Amino acid sequence: MTPNDSTQGWRAQGSAETVLARLLGALAEISLDPDAVLEFLVRQCADLFGDLCGARMVSLDGQYLENRVWHHRDHALEGELHELLDPVVQSIEVGNTGRVVRSGKPTVYLKAPPDLRASAQTAYMEARGIAGVMLIPFASRGKVLGVLHLSRDRGSAPYTEEDRDLFFAICDRASLVYDNARLYRELARQGTILEQVDAAVVAVDTDGCITSWNPAAERLFGHARAEVLGRRGADVLSAPYSDEQLAAAREETLAIGWEGEWQMLRADGTPFPVWARASALTDENGVVTGIVGVFSDISAERRSQQLIERRALQHEAVAMLGERALEGGDPEVLFARAVDAAARTLRAQAALVQHSEDGTALVVRAAGGFEADPVGTVVPTEPSGGLAAYALATQRGLLTRDAAADPRFTLEPFLVDSGPGGAVAAVVQGRDRSHGVLVAVAPLHHAFGEADLRFLQSLANVLADAIDRWQGDQEQLRRALHDPLTGLPNRTLVLDRIDQALARIDRADGSLAILFLDIDHFKVINDGLGHGAGDELLAMIAPRLRGAVRPSDTVGRFGGDEFVMVCEGVRDEAMALMIARRVTEGCAAPFRIGGQDHHVTVSVGVVVCARGAHDAEALLRDADAAMYRAKERGRSRVELFDMGMRARAVERMQIERELRAGLDRDELRVWFQPILDLTTGEIASVEALVRWQHPERGMLQPSQFIHVAEESGLVVPLGRRVLELACLQAAHWPRDGHGRLRAVHVNLAAQQVGGAGSDLTAVVEDVLRTTRTPPQQLVLELTETALLERGAVAGDTLAHLVDLGVRFYLDDFGTGYSSLGYLDRFPIAGLKIDRSFVDGLGVHAEKTPIVKAILRMTEALGLDTVAEGVEREDQLAELRELGCTSAQGYLFARPMTGEALSELLLAGPLATAAPPAPRGLV
Ligand code: C2E
Ligand code: MG
Ligand code: MG
Repeated sequence: MTPNDSTQGWRAQGSAETVLARLLGALAEISLDPDAVLEFLVRQCADLFGDLCGARMVSLDGQYLENRVWHHRDHALEGELHELLDPVVQSIEVGNTGRVVRSGKPTVYLKAPPDLRASAQTAYMEARGIAGVMLIPFASRGKVLGVLHLSRDRGSAPYTEEDRDLFFAICDRASLVYDNARLYRELARQGTILEQVDAAVVAVDTDGCITSWNPAAERLFGHARAEVLGRRGADVLSAPYSDEQLAAAREETLAIGWEGEWQMLRADGTPFPVWARASALTDENGVVTGIVGVFSDISAERRSQQLIERRALQHEAVAMLGERALEGGDPEVLFARAVDAAARTLRAQAALVQHSEDGTALVVRAAGGFEADPVGTVVPTEPSGGLAAYALATQRGLLTRDAAADPRFTLEPFLVDSGPGGAVAAVVQGRDRSHGVLVAVAPLHHAFGEADLRFLQSLANVLADAIDRWQGDQEQLRRALHDPLTGLPNRTLVLDRIDQALARIDRADGSLAILFLDIDHFKVINDGLGHGAGDELLAMIAPRLRGAVRPSDTVGRFGGDEFVMVCEGVRDEAMALMIARRVTEGCAAPFRIGGQDHHVTVSVGVVVCARGAHDAEALLRDADAAMYRAKERGRSRVELFDMGMRARAVERMQIERELRAGLDRDELRVWFQPILDLTTGEIASVEALVRWQHPERGMLQPSQFIHVAEESGLVVPLGRRVLELACLQAAHWPRDGHGRLRAVHVNLAAQQVGGAGSDLTAVVEDVLRTTRTPPQQLVLELTETALLERGAVAGDTLAHLVDLGVRFYLDDFGTGYSSLGYLDRFPIAGLKIDRSFVDGLGVHAEKTPIVKAILRMTEALGLDTVAEGVEREDQLAELRELGCTSAQGYLFARPMTGEALSELLLAGPLATAAPPAPRGLV
């Protein structure tokens, strides 16, 4: 075909309309493939218009033009033209073609153009020359996709206007076909991509009904395509969103597109998070046809993120609990915090299970996250009976994926109720024993990991430390408030209990009894059998006392042999006395100590108080005063407090204070009472009797203060002072001839014989030496009680002093046990028959045989006997008749000062056969 034929190209085939119609028809057949469209178009145009036609398309990035396809009317040339055309890629910024792209307007030179320099076709044009050129933008929907190039080589005829018009028409229609084909291919390609991409792609129409659902969507959501197509997307997918929220998201999607995290539902109903990108779908006219969304599953990321957050929370929870634990205080509060922390951070139900106080049961002590509070629930103790019991039995942490199906144990019912999935348990392991177990169960589908177990264990460890520490504190507190020997509350705690009881009876009506108990002659056991035996007795009596009162009552020990019982709800004094009697009866059975039975009696003072009493100390003093009265009245009895006792108790305290001062101020005096030898009528010896020159109350008798001295221990310094004074004065009395005194008698209190702070031997030796008194002139008077209480120590002391030459007399014989055993065991030189026996002589005939028996016995043993308190002639007569050789009493002389005695001694023997009335000496 020659260039000259070129003008004939399309005309040979008919009119422009015919040519166009036929071409479009042919294009329609291949219209599904844009490359084929282009190929066909370029080939047709090259043939129809000549010589060279090419399609140069804009690159994807819009920056370049590349020769996509070209053809020459002379097919034979195409081979050698390849090199000139194929590689041409040029920027859209340069050349005529670039300008067409940029402007969207065609450039047409029907003849050879004046300037071809800026053209990328230069190489071709230089080689082939150019007779005319048309550059038509290949555009669709307002967008330039490329440029169709048509040119005639040098030597060919220029284009005609008809050529141009037809070419324009062809390009115009073909560009649409091309664009459609391209769109079609795009869609088709999208289709395959949708099939392959991992992200779920879902499209909905304007009604929100699902129109597209790719396999990834099937996998992600669990719905098959067929199930969901046509259904409303919101119904199928959206989990927890309100209509308003959905509408807002839709609006935003349509306006600018939406991207973010979204919660969705899987087919099985579980919610999960996705990352969603959604945008509007429009048709070619820009009308919205729906929304397309791309979703990727981010539950894994969320899970790991949640895991990290959970760990952080757990660390925080452990740290917080540790801090609280350091603050100390009641662990109950800590228990609650621990289970709360576990429930919160594990998103579970958590409970602390502990042994009951008696250790026989397992009980839920604290719980968090439960709907029905299980605190107080008793759970099985056998290892197979529950998670808690199993963990406790194995002493190890436990992790199980399916707690309900775990073959090692049957889950506790209170945990089963929650429909559990996984479970964890951590033992609260204290220093010496376990304090329980922390358990947590999570709802179905939720399993715990090792880290969760470690977390729970950390909580358990904090608890264990706190409990250990608290128990240590409690133990210390217990020790501080309890008597170590009997385990009973001590004075401090008893006082506190009384205060509490007083507060209670103040609020609600009621009354309170306080029993003050003292063991009679406790010293006999303590000194006689040793302190170990004393301790044993105290430890044995404690449970008896406890057993005599109600469990809610308090039994405390005040040190020594004193016990106090605080009983609430005691209606009246009769009831209080009944309790007291029960207590004394409880002590009646013998105590087996050191292989021997010992009978013990107690003295009990009782005070009952109702509302209005506020002072625990005062109440105790009252009970003590009543106990004191019981002692005074002969021991082994119960006395009820009355106000007189309180007055006396107060008085006793005052006397003690004053006596202490009086000792310091040397207010003690010693008076003497003669003891007569009934055979000669002479004053054989004298008894030293203490007096107190009180600065306000005048001369006081022993009965006014000696009992206070004995209770307070002041009797020890008092006794020493009396001994000194007696010996000092005795030194002035004649020792021979008329009125010769054989001895001075000095009374000894029990405490002086081996009591605290007393050393009788040293004291007596010291006084004898300093006063230059011969030991043979000293007689020490002891009561049976003193010997009874000081038996063990007394023996040695007495023996030592007896070796020195000092003699001992048993005073007030007959009032105590009147046991002849003492006469055997102790080096006793004489007896003083108590006034109560002498009193009855001559009047009460029944006393005579007793005195007679005593006298006969002492005579047989070679002991002296002094009859005390002889006031009447008939008594004296009877005593003489019975063979009594010594007597003391007002009948002869009252106690008198040392000076008065000196005078009396100088006056010569007192009449005895028919003694005169006592001279007015006191
Ligand atoms: P006691 O050792 O039995 O002393 C005899 C008491 O009987 C004295 O009382 C004396 O005054 C009183 N008395 C003597 N003859 C008669 C009488 O015919 N009729 C009556 N009703 N009473 C008579 P006093 O001096 O009041 O002493 C009482 C008790 O105090 C003494 O009894 C003694 O147990 C104790 N006592 C006195 N002085 C001391 C002392 O220095 N040390 C100690 N530990 N106790 C002492
Ligand atoms: Mg005496
Ligand atoms: Mg006496």
